[in-house]
Amino acid sequence: MTAPTTTAAHPRAVRYLHHDAAERPFIVIWEVTRACQLVCTHCRADAITTRNPFELSTVEGKRLLDDLASFGAPRPLVVLTGGDPFERPDLPELVAHGTGLGLSMALSPSVTAKLTREVLVELHDAGAKAVSLSLDGATAQTHDAFRGIDGVFDDTFTAARTIKDIGFRLQINTTVTSANVHELPQILKAVLELGASLWSVFFLVPTGRGKLLEPLTAAQEEEVLHWLHDVSSLVAIKTTEAPHYRRIALQRAGVDALDEAFGVGPLRAELRRDTAGLFAAHPPKPRRPRPPIDVNSGKGFAFVDHVGIVYPSGFLPAPAGSVRARPFPEIYRESVLLKSLRDPDSFGGKCGRCEFRTVCGGSRSHAFATTGDPLAEDPSCLHEPA
Ligand code: SF4
Repeated sequence: MTAPTTTAAHPRAVRYLHHDAAERPFIVIWEVTRACQLVCTHCRADAITTRNPFELSTVEGKRLLDDLASFGAPRPLVVLTGGDPFERPDLPELVAHGTGLGLSMALSPSVTAKLTREVLVELHDAGAKAVSLSLDGATAQTHDAFRGIDGVFDDTFTAARTIKDIGFRLQINTTVTSANVHELPQILKAVLELGASLWSVFFLVPTGRGKLLEPLTAAQEEEVLHWLHDVSSLVAIKTTEAPHYRRIALQRAGVDALDEAFGVGPLRAELRRDTAGLFAAHPPKPRRPRPPIDVNSGKGFAFVDHVGIVYPSGFLPAPAGSVRARPFPEIYRESVLLKSLRDPDSFGGKCGRCEFRTVCGGSRSHAFATTGDPLAEDPSCLHEPA
């Protein structure tokens, strides 16, 4: 495989932050609770059905939002996740508080009986802008097997239509494993039919209950990332725990004969064939692709868990500090761990000598899950640095 490797030559293939990622995050995910009524096989949080009495209280949560707003403009995007955030009765109060501070608030609920139109309308009135739902299979059989409960697949489509109808932006999240990778074209079709503004594709990190599932090999992941870039003209795509999507976007930029330059393996050929078949009768209208953004664990991105511990990512269980002991901005700017994650020259193995280390940097979560060292090389990437 031959490919161009200069990152400076194709600046529009990737979006860069307009501010210093060492000073302020672009996005903060807050796990407001770990309680959830689903039993997803890939759950990062190993969620349980009841709330932890030591969760951040309403007052502590509002203080966290105050601290996030104190970064000033551009303020970080805030996503309230879980567990299932709808397990918290004070969710509308937290959303209204964040909105009042000028924060852009989004929600990532589980599809359960608590996800009602009534509560969604209340959250929309409180100022929430976007809602993300998980869709991990193209059939009830695959999706419900992931979720551990029958009927969630159909309920997800109903909830997605309600979310759109109320006026939220809809995001669909899909976790890719070796079990569902062949269903990606059908999931893409569902994403388009539901009118989602963003498809967020997670690459399984073997952490939490996800340790029991089989992730893709590095070669399979490379093929899927190329396919995602192929179809990024149909829907905006974001990858999670696969920052080498940015390396691929840069490598492909300006290359006319992509197949000759990168080759097409059997998995990508299958995904491509199935995609063409699904859309043969009614080809979707292409859109201008949205380049991936240069954000990574601890570098523009941070995660706060249900008891206030800050992590570089929800999939990287190495703590950086507690918001109960220090304000979030202090932890984000001064934690030794987060600072080291923002220094690509400190990375080990091939990531440390890679020509793409400043714009990619590798999945620090994959490195940590495999070696126990968040600065080690990312084993889920196929690239061999020049
Ligand atoms: S070797 Fe590491 S830094 Fe280079 S593209 Fe792969 S994951 Fe990214």
